[in-house]
Amino acid sequence: MKSLEDKLFLNRYQPDKESHLKVINRDKCLECEGKPCTFICPAKVYSWNPKEKIIETAYEGCVECGTCRYGCAHDNIEWKNPRGGFGIMYKYG
Ligand code: SF4
Ligand code: SF4
Repeated sequence: MKSLEDKLFLNRYQPDKESHLKVINRDKCLECEGKPCTFICPAKVYSWNPKEKIIETAYEGCVECGTCRYGCAHDNIEWKNPRGGFGIMYKYG
């Protein structure tokens, strides 16, 4: 079976310069139990940075599944569709 990384490698990206994902209020993340965003995203876009105490978003890897919009425990993620021509381009749609 192929790993997730292998599968992601099959997808072609044209990352926009600006993130289409934004954590709205970082204070909410501090109190957020379990930080579901860090495990619900299939592309592992969200990760907790314990030093800076922030959620980091590796938005370039987003496969635009939309899960995080509903998965954030505090409705704290702003999600815009990447601008036309950017974001993911599926080879096998
Ligand atoms: S689930 Fe939402 S509130 Fe919780 S850590 Fe992630 S972005 Fe922050
Ligand atoms: S839309 Fe999907 S792939 Fe993109 S950050 Fe949200 S959960 Fe991850």
